Amino acid sequence: MAKRVLITGAAGFLGSHLCDRFIKEGYQVIGMDNLITGDLKNIEHLFPLENFEFYNHDVSKFVHLPGHLDYILHFASPASPIDYLKIPIQTLKVGSLGTHNLLGLAKVKKARILVASTSEIYGDPDIHPQNEDYWGNVNPVGPRGVYDEAKRFQEAMTMAYHTYHALETRIVRIFNTYGPRMRLNDGRVLPAFIGQALRGEDLTVFGDGSQTRSFCYVDDLVEGIYRLLLSDCSSPVNIGNPDEITISDFAEEIIALTGTEQKVIYKDLPVDDPKQRQPDISKAKSVLDWEPKVKRSEGLKLTYGYFKSLPKEELYKKEHKNFEAYIKS
Ligand code: UDP
Repeated sequence: MAKRVLITGAAGFLGSHLCDRFIKEGYQVIGMDNLITGDLKNIEHLFPLENFEFYNHDVSKFVHLPGHLDYILHFASPASPIDYLKIPIQTLKVGSLGTHNLLGLAKVKKARILVASTSEIYGDPDIHPQNEDYWGNVNPVGPRGVYDEAKRFQEAMTMAYHTYHALETRIVRIFNTYGPRMRLNDGRVLPAFIGQALRGEDLTVFGDGSQTRSFCYVDDLVEGIYRLLLSDCSSPVNIGNPDEITISDFAEEIIALTGTEQKVIYKDLPVDDPKQRQPDISKAKSVLDWEPKVKRSEGLKLTYGYFKSLPKEELYKKEHKNFEAYIKS
């Protein structure tokens, strides 16, 4: 019998790629999403399939699911600074209450659960690169606190279920990831720069552009997550690409890639914007025999191809369509 996996955040960027991967591996996939930051377009190709089901549900509320489950992957959460500034309470709830509900479901179903954590739990790190033993430097009451602390709570809760209920748990700490199906208007640096290039606007670098990030192509990330789920490692594992770059050099790469004639302009650095970020992936290498394969030049080409193929009106949408309705509810 095919294994059954529940993927929350299924209509989002990472969730939809995970759905594709598990379908490809022959699983019965149940997608769940409340479509606040997700988009059904990301998974509409899966709807005709017999081994795919979808529930429109907010996992911060009690989750009921008939039948057995082998695995749960909890990927529901706003995940960009713009999103969690607009829906801070919902961000806190999905990371805390949502995680609690899914841990409870995993316990009842005797399923293994993998939760999506993040490099944000390291805050503005004072060690470099960040390995899993570093405890982080997070401002709980800053604008990013709602995401960072929800994810830190998520890790604590997950480990507690592992320790006290002997639940099979996995924790992936995801570093900056990019690829097709990112939202053009989610405020993240890659869609921001590519969107600006496609609209013929200048590229906005925040601060002096000396801050660094390390970008992982989505297919590499999905492979790492797949291996982690099937491994026996219950402690957190970093998955990301250690190829680090400053944001101003990244802007130059996007200018070269898109051939735009626009220039870089500088804007204020957001509060608590981490200065450096680079994963130490020694643990993923040794425990999962995993390392990223896709070079940034290659991944960026694929991602640019995706953004170029979108209908032109997508380029001018300021906000995700579902925010307003959700905030009022
Ligand atoms: N950034 C930028 N211009 C933009 C959007 C973002 O310079 O239009 C910077 C941002 O300040 C941060 C980096 O790019 O230093 C990565 O931002 P993103 O929101 O993509 O991810 P995160 O800060 O969560 O790693």
